[in-house]
Amino acid sequence: MALLPILTYPNKRLRETSKPVAEITDEIRQLVKDMAETMYDAPGVGLAAPQVVVLLRLALVDVVAGYNEEGERDLQVFINPEILEAEGEQVGEEGCLSVREYAAPVKRAMRIKVRTMNLDGETIEFEAEEFYARVLQHEFDHLDGRLFIDRISTLRRSLYKKKLKKILASEKNG
Ligand code: ZN
Repeated sequence: MALLPILTYPNKRLRETSKPVAEITDEIRQLVKDMAETMYDAPGVGLAAPQVVVLLRLALVDVVAGYNEEGERDLQVFINPEILEAEGEQVGEEGCLSVREYAAPVKRAMRIKVRTMNLDGETIEFEAEEFYARVLQHEFDHLDGRLFIDRISTLRRSLYKKKLKKILASEKNG
């Protein structure tokens, strides 16, 4: 088990398009374990492989941990996921382990239909809505090199860039 380093904006590698997972090997299973440890440690509700510099279409989500007083977990693994249908609209605050010290409202589809492979290599289809649908859309965006700050207003994005500049400058000097 190992904690993996998480890339942060504006690292250009976050902008690359990830390739499909060809086969579920022991390496993939190990990657999932390490990514899970990294996600829970952060902590975050989701983590996509390109965030840890692995350009594969693989993402983890756990929308139960952190909201559950019994410490229960519900780790879900999405391999080569696709959004088949999307409808409706919702706006909610998002943050990202790759976008430091920032959260902003983002518009997403309210309901989506997803096809994905799980870690057993089975292809499954299911529907998701509200918060769960939001998290999935956010994570799957990473597989195409998109960040939630691409989906906010130009004004908000430029304010964030200014803020980030200050953060980076203070770290350099400190
Ligand atoms: Zn993210």
